[in-house]
Amino acid sequence: MAVNSRPLPTLPVLPDAATEQVLASGLLPELAYAFGGPFHFLLPDAFDANLWDMQGALAAAGVDGFVYFAKKANKAALFVERAAAGGAGVDVASVAELREALGHGVRGEHLVVTGPAKDPALLHLAVQHGAPVAVDALDELDTLVTIALTGRIRPARILLRALPTAQPHSRFGLTEAELATALDRCVQAGDAVRMEGFSFHLSGYALQPRADLAARLVELCLKARVQGLEASRISIGGGLPISYTDADSWHTFLTEHKSSHYHAGKTFHTGDFYPYHSPLAGADALAALLATQPQAHEHSLARLLRDAGVLLLLEPGRALLNQAGATVFRVQGVKERDGYQILTVDGTSLSLSEQWFNSEYLPDPILIPQDPDSPEGAFPASVGAATCLESDMLTWRKISFPRRPRTGDLLVYPNTAGYQMDSNESPFHDLALPPKVVVDHTDEPRPRWRLDRHFT
Ligand SMILES: *Cc1c(COP(=O)(O)O)cnc(C)c1O
Repeated sequence: MAVNSRPLPTLPVLPDAATEQVLASGLLPELAYAFGGPFHFLLPDAFDANLWDMQGALAAAGVDGFVYFAKKANKAALFVERAAAGGAGVDVASVAELREALGHGVRGEHLVVTGPAKDPALLHLAVQHGAPVAVDALDELDTLVTIALTGRIRPARILLRALPTAQPHSRFGLTEAELATALDRCVQAGDAVRMEGFSFHLSGYALQPRADLAARLVELCLKARVQGLEASRISIGGGLPISYTDADSWHTFLTEHKSSHYHAGKTFHTGDFYPYHSPLAGADALAALLATQPQAHEHSLARLLRDAGVLLLLEPGRALLNQAGATVFRVQGVKERDGYQILTVDGTSLSLSEQWFNSEYLPDPILIPQDPDSPEGAFPASVGAATCLESDMLTWRKISFPRRPRTGDLLVYPNTAGYQMDSNESPFHDLALPPKVVVDHTDEPRPRWRLDRHFT
């Protein structure tokens, strides 16, 4: 149906066989009945494939590297288990995340501890378990040295996190002067510290600034070695983009979307949207990054790393979770408005976390009608939550559904495993947190399911 005469722009997700098999299997209505509320389903094979592709990109470029899964992107135990099984580590930033990672099979030395001004309890555990810590401030370095000296069991393994030159207002990382001081303190600390190298994490998804900063950290390694420090590795953090939709749909959406396309005439700033299409995504983006020539260097980043004998660490979150899960709501009510419907689902917008960024999760949700004979056509609808807040909308955008949505239908938000699922979930209104269901064997006529083993 046309709104203001032109059809609404659509953002269909890229095809994914496993997700489509789950949708076609009839499992979702059964689970919705069993749980009586929204739930997430997780697809372990997708995580394994993403990890394998990234490790393959490193090998193809002849780069020695190690992948840490950035755990904050999803709380499920499943992905930690798959990381451990796939020869990856885990990036943790709290005692609870560290405990989860250890409890689900990741060895201490395969963790990396990141985040600002870390809890001393976390630093203690990192030293005990031989996990490297990305040091974010000088006082944190002092605490670590003290812990290592008093514990006298193991040295503190450290990376020094650099403040990105291109993002001077970031609250993370050490300035140039602080780095120099930190290096001196590492030298003084002697055996209490293993200064293994440097790290950064950039916001945004551009490759060139990452290649440039990585090259700068390689140079810092070479300088630190002159001071007698190990400086054998750099971590380039996360920020590998993923593509949710195709280039055409995304560009059409960006040029055509306007406030009349949203419930209540809501406006979003285009710049606040995640880039739902990237020409290079996931492992391809990593390969391109390794092939990028850093500014003022003659060779690719891969060559630079090889020549300097520097191990490349990366901490992808979102990119490892591409196509690794989706979120299912039941339509609890349908209301007619001026030319569109408002669907109310049995959960809240907090089970989709994009609101954190003054924006919303844009890929089109998929309607699974309860009645296979429901009318076909184009039915614009926005999606609201089962709460008493005017602003609690899962989708302000009017989605053009191909079937008429009805109470009892399911609404599947695809590809939500990376950050959308559970970053912001809360038991607001005493609503239960949506359970996570792991779906195995999606290629068989009857997929098997089990609950995720997350402890809390
Ligand atoms: C959040 C974060 C990551 C993961 O970022 P993605 O964009 O999900 O890949 C990696 N490292 C650090 C230090 C982070 O804070």
